[in-house]
Parts: sequence; C-alpha cells; structure tokens
Amino acid sequence: MGNDVMGKIVSLCKRRGYVYPSSEIYGGINSCWDYGPLGAELKKNIKESWWESMTYYRDDIEGLDASIIMHPMVWKASGHVDGFTDAMVDCKKCKLRFRMDETSGKLCPECGGELTEARLFNLMFKTHIGAVEEEASTIYLRPETAQGIYVNFQNVLTSSRRKIPFGIAQIGKAFRNEITPKNFIFRMREFEQMEMQYFVKPETAEEWFETWRKERMQWYIDLGIKEDSLRFHKHTKDELPHYASKAYDIQYQFPFGWEEIEGIHNRTDYDLKNHSKFSGKELEYFDDSTGKRFIPHIIEVSAGVDRALLTCLVDAYDEEEDRVVLRLSPKVAPIKVGIFPLVKRDGMPEAAKKIAKELRRHMKVFYDEGGSIGRRYRRQDEVGTPFGITVDAQTITDDTVTLRSRDDMKQVRLKIAELSSYLVCRL
Ligand code: ATP
Repeated sequence: MGNDVMGKIVSLCKRRGYVYPSSEIYGGINSCWDYGPLGAELKKNIKESWWESMTYYRDDIEGLDASIIMHPMVWKASGHVDGFTDAMVDCKKCKLRFRMDETSGKLCPECGGELTEARLFNLMFKTHIGAVEEEASTIYLRPETAQGIYVNFQNVLTSSRRKIPFGIAQIGKAFRNEITPKNFIFRMREFEQMEMQYFVKPETAEEWFETWRKERMQWYIDLGIKEDSLRFHKHTKDELPHYASKAYDIQYQFPFGWEEIEGIHNRTDYDLKNHSKFSGKELEYFDDSTGKRFIPHIIEVSAGVDRALLTCLVDAYDEEEDRVVLRLSPKVAPIKVGIFPLVKRDGMPEAAKKIAKELRRHMKVFYDEGGSIGRRYRRQDEVGTPFGITVDAQTITDDTVTLRSRDDMKQVRLKIAELSSYLVCRL
C-alpha cells in the first residue's frame, strides 16, 4: 500500500460522505475537515466503544466533560505556556515551512534549499475572553483534554466517593496550531481526544502503566485492527515529554509510515503537584487505611479520535477484482444493514420497508430500492455495511429473506422473525 491508497481513501471519503474538506465552497481551510453523515456515525461509534470500555465495563472509572476554555493559569501550571512549542524552520528557496524534526539537517527536504535558523513556536491558539482585548484577558483553546481532568480531581474524588486507584475519562475537542498539518485527518488543527487519567499510589505506578499499556493495545485489536499493523514505540530519554517519566506510543502502519495513534504516559505527580503549587489548593489524597497523605501519581492513556477513525478506514480498505470493500468491524460500521427489495413491485418494497422499520429500533439501517441488486450490494460494500437483506418473491409467500454478509458475500436464508436477534449478536 502506498500513498495512492491514501488518495483513494480520501476520494472515497469525500464521495460517500465520510469526510469533506472544511469550508469547501470557499476553497477549504488547511488542516480542518468536516465529517459527513457516515463519518459522523463512525466517529460516534468509535467514541462510544471507548467510553463503554472505560466507564461501563469497569467500575473504577468516572466520566467527565470539562469546558474547553479554562483559566489561563491552568496552562502556566501545566507547562504549556512556556514549553508547548515546536521548533520551525523555513526554506529560503521554496519558502516551505517545516517542523525542525522533519528535516534531517540544514537542507530543505523538498528542494534542497538552505533553511533558516530554527524558531520556537507555541502551538496553543490564543484568543480573548470578554469585550476588552488586553493581555489580562488572554485565554487559550485547550491543546489537550487532560488538564480539565486534573483540575477536577478533588471534585470527582469527593462527589463520587472514590478511593485510589481510580480513573477519570473524557472525550472532547483539542486545538493545536500545528506547523505542518498533513496526511488527511492524521494531523489536524482542531481534533478530538479520548483521554483517561488513572490516579494511583506512587509505588504501584509501574504496575498500572503495564496494565494500561496492554489494555489499550487490546482495544484496537478488539476494533478489528490487524495486529501486524500495530506496535509499541518506547520513548527514549530524548523523546520523553516534559511531564513523563516513561512513555510508550501505540503506532499504526499507515501508507505514509508507522505513526503514533495513542500515547501512554507515566506522568508521576507532575500535574497535581504543579496545580497545587499554582492554585494554592491542597491536591493530596488521604489514605484512610494507612493514615498517610500523598499526591497520587497518574498513568495517562491519550488517544486521538480522528487518528483512531483513520486507522479504522485504512485498515478496512480492500480492493477485490470487482469491488472495493471496507471491512470495518460491525461494531463501528456506520450502517449495520442494507435492506433491498429485489424489484420495485409485487409487494416487495412494502415487505422490505416493514423489515426496515422493525430493525431501525435496534440499529442503523439503510433502505435502497434503486438499481440492480449487484450494484446496491457493491455500494454498501464500499462504505463498509456488514450485512445486506434482500426481499424477493419467496419472502411474500414464506416470510423468509436472504441475508448476505459483506466479507465473504455468502448468503443464508432466514425467517424475518429471527433477523433482529441474528444481527444484534453480531454487532
Ligand atoms: P505527534 O507527535 O503526532 O504530534 P503528540 O505526541 O503531540 O503527537 P499527544 O500530545 O501525546 O500527541 O496527544 C495524544 C493523542 O492525540 C495522539 O496520540 C493523537 O492520537 C492525538 N493527536 C495529537 N495531535 C493531533 C493532531 N494535530 N491531529 C489529530 N490528532 C492528534
């Protein structure tokens, strides 16, 4: 798979309503993308799968939905005002701009021209709150969701009567003024994160780090992502972010190379200690079993919704002799079942619509009566719909339909009454 595959995926996304360039009628805006009907559904399903794995299937994690705009001191305390920078260089010849770490030396990777000295560039978007644009009213769009969790640590601890270890999970938008956004939705300036911060006793941090590392890899495997295309990358001392004592990335093998889709960090007591220092508020935990007070250590798992979605699309994309098929896991596929009357007469559309109405109570259904049946199947294969139901003349006499499965195109004959239970347990 090469970059031509990326081109095909980008074009499929636009054509079929997964992802459009943002503000397209005005010529688009670099690095911003809009999710169309199918993209919005896929994104929702991915977020739901993450949210359920964190807050439903376990009983040690609470959810949170914090404000995007926060007190500016948050970003002082977190180190983002002073340290959330990338070094950028410009090519003196072709004028292109690069992140310093994308260039291997003094020369432009595009044209070989000479590069300028590196300048530091803060990635946070600044804006103003209130009517007066002055220094004191400067605020930031959050570049990560994590800080909303740290500043609410005491609130969640008290209101949900938790004991350590426990976690707080959040899904939400984050903004970074990336120097060189590229590779479709891989690097955007506005994106979404799914982050969970797990608060632990300092002496158990290592153990929890290992537990979460495995858990998070398993989540991608459970989404149906090919194991061979997933790997861990351990950060060397030079790569470690300022807040972490240990970090692993989960990487996926995209057509443009192995790249990070999620970061797993041991953040020690860095965050709570700093927020305590800057806010003057006590952020210690009292352990009533030992009578000791301490600042909890934090294991962070930080995934990008958009990168998870791109991973699902790239991993699912397949070309066969006479069809393109997205082999999306039924769990996340936007449409679960297509319903097709074989022909537009003899009571078949009515019978098919009745089945659609019944199944709609359980799943996202697409009804289609136009064109040849082969064409209708292929259109659904291309957007990843795992099942197709065809209503034919026999349906009218014995209440059975054919159910076609996207991946092997095999068909079985089922009773209408059995359809919903058959499908629900396969989603
Ligand atoms: P990169 O090195 O690719 O810039 P990062 O190490 O800065 O990523 P983190 O700060 O660890 O990323 O953010 C956690 C997750 O958020 C990433 O693994 C990724 O999935 C997502 N993410 C970060 N930046 C972006 C972006 N610009 N566009 C889309 N997703 C992003």
